[in-house]
Amino acid sequence: GTLTVKELAEELEIEANDLMTKLINLGIMAMINQELTMEQMENIAAEYGYQIKEEENTDDEDNIYGLVNDIEDKEEDLELRPPVITVMGHVDHGKTTLLDAIRETEVTAGEAGGITQHIGAYQVDVDGQKITFLDTPGHEAFTSMRARGAQATDIAILVVAADDGIMPQTIEAINHAKSAGVPIIVAVNKIDRPNAQPDRVKQELTEHGLVPEEWGGNTICVNVSALKKENLDELLEMIVLTAEMEELKANPNRAANGVIIEAELDRGRGPVATVLVNNGTLKVGDAIVAGVASGRVRAMVNDRGERLEEAGPATPVEVLGLSDVPNAGDLLEAVEDDQSARGVAQKRKDKKRADELTRNTTVNLDDLFSQIQQGDVKELNIVVKADVQGSVEAVKQSLLKLSTDEVEVNIIHGGVGGVTETDVMLASASNAIIIGFNVRPGANARKVAEKEKVDIRTYRVIYKAIDDVKSAMEGLLDPDY
Ligand code: GDP
Repeated sequence: GTLTVKELAEELEIEANDLMTKLINLGIMAMINQELTMEQMENIAAEYGYQIKEEENTDDEDNIYGLVNDIEDKEEDLELRPPVITVMGHVDHGKTTLLDAIRETEVTAGEAGGITQHIGAYQVDVDGQKITFLDTPGHEAFTSMRARGAQATDIAILVVAADDGIMPQTIEAINHAKSAGVPIIVAVNKIDRPNAQPDRVKQELTEHGLVPEEWGGNTICVNVSALKKENLDELLEMIVLTAEMEELKANPNRAANGVIIEAELDRGRGPVATVLVNNGTLKVGDAIVAGVASGRVRAMVNDRGERLEEAGPATPVEVLGLSDVPNAGDLLEAVEDDQSARGVAQKRKDKKRADELTRNTTVNLDDLFSQIQQGDVKELNIVVKADVQGSVEAVKQSLLKLSTDEVEVNIIHGGVGGVTETDVMLASASNAIIIGFNVRPGANARKVAEKEKVDIRTYRVIYKAIDDVKSAMEGLLDPDY
């Protein structure tokens, strides 16, 4: 919403008088308690080098897990930062082999005799350009982090074995990356195999909306052999190139924020958390809070076992000094002092307890209509699972036709098979419902869905599924469906 002159001055951390003078210079006569229009606010903010960002959620309570000090950086303070990469793809297509191969060739080449440590992420140096790799391959980890509100990945490497082609988890990975808006680079792997058919892979990719560059599309495909360490340089170059186009920037000169990649309780060292710094610089001695854990950075160690005093944007580091073990995907940030760190952590603990009783943030068919009415829902995201591909398509096509001017129906993923935990995490991350046709959720998926408040509906007849969604959109859903 809009602010008064006084409030805007406070936001910009300037004197209200100065702001009023500035306004007069812009030809706007405004009293101190006068409410400004959005256009006026934007003009003023631009004068001071800020951008007005609509707060997504004005309800403070809902934002309690978000960053406390998420101040927007001025354009001139931003510097290029390394890209963060997640490797995805079907099981056995070579994700782990690729991650290991890149680490072995690049890390040891740079640092003679360097001892590599598995801390959940590592960084390599390609002709002076750094690239950060997340060490846990797969879209499951990627999406469960996203479901917690953390998007750590800038670029996804989709590994497809040239002797096997596109498989169900390849499709899942594509859809998960797409729904996160993350660009995909395809590594066509195992080209050393005699039965490798890289062109067939490319053909199949086009069927899923990824048209290779050499065929006039904009998907970069690189033929590699992770096992033989062939053509990895080209893959790395393509990552650097893509990162350049994305213009990934951060402000190293501010209090740090980042995301927990993994965390555990170490017998000797206490809680140990691997943090990927997103913005700012994390320093030894900083008061920090991560989810419901707080503390002070006692020491930091990088992926080469070196102690660091400081860690800048896109650097993964192991951090010692937290009071509790945070969750992967929790946001971490440096705050003013120990007291505010403890305060924020405590507030979250209290809220978490209350939330566990009442949490209901994701979309669901039962009150879809009121969510639409309140303007909370402008698109209805749906994950479709069915027993056979034909049904997936049929359900998808019929659902898509339900789009109206108020609500756009998106099918963010469609696949054959039961409803899995990963489907639930995707739905949670993308605020989607799940429709199962002739399939059921497994016990685990059901448990996670309950926790994440994801609405799963299963049907045996297509028209009933379509009917329910249609009725829900119109506020006519029979509660005893
Ligand atoms: P992940 O499940 O995707 O992580 O796959 P892995 O990295 O565990 O690889 C599965 C199998 O494929 C292993 O036996 C690897 O040695 C083999 N593999 C991986 N990359 C290549 C490759 O480029 N060429 C060949 N011939 N085999 C590979």
